[in-house]
Amino acid sequence: MSSQLGLTFAPYEVLEPLPKDAVYFFPRSEAEPETPDDLYDRNQALPAELSAYLIRHYAQVYPDITFIPEWADGTVNAAAYRSNPKGDAASLLNPMGQEVRLFGGLLRHKKLGIEGLSLIISHEVGHFKVGKGKNKGWTSCEGEADYWAASVSQRKVWWGKQSLENINIGTEQFNTVYTPLWRLDNQKSVQVSCEMHPAPSCRKETFLAGLTGKPIPQCAKPLD
Ligand SMILES: [Zn+2]
Repeated sequence: MSSQLGLTFAPYEVLEPLPKDAVYFFPRSEAEPETPDDLYDRNQALPAELSAYLIRHYAQVYPDITFIPEWADGTVNAAAYRSNPKGDAASLLNPMGQEVRLFGGLLRHKKLGIEGLSLIISHEVGHFKVGKGKNKGWTSCEGEADYWAASVSQRKVWWGKQSLENINIGTEQFNTVYTPLWRLDNQKSVQVSCEMHPAPSCRKETFLAGLTGKPIPQCAKPLD
């Protein structure tokens, strides 16, 4: 499929599996679509054009990260990882191969518009930008990536008032998609460890705290 914006999606291409230390937006146990009806077909132009626009836009704002759509994969998720942790890749801008993989189930989800997708991509960028988390790995913690997405990245990716509107709409889209998938007790916003995802209610609270300039909620701070 060829996009008018210059990006080409290969509808049936399957890419390399991700490294073990990749980090995801949704916990992997929650990342299946509710039903296939939740997704647009692979040959639909609208989600392809939106995805192409977003990827081009993020690549301009964050040239040290490569954004890769895996259009054929129906998983509702995104992941951040380093394809070359030794740091000797040929790219001067991105020597460690910092990559964000965007699965087709996310990009083609009918309940996610450009606002929700953008909030999710900003979260993945946050894994590279916030700094090392308490898990002692290369990435920042899940709750901190959520907060950074809304408080920093969205304000950089979108302009002025539009960024505030987009965070609000994106948070609602996130909530619509995620809360029904969550199999755990979603009423309790308890603190979790660095690599665990806070409950949907906590993540929503975290995005809105980033929107309104409040500090990160206690439930999003990683436990030691
Ligand atoms: Zn994450």
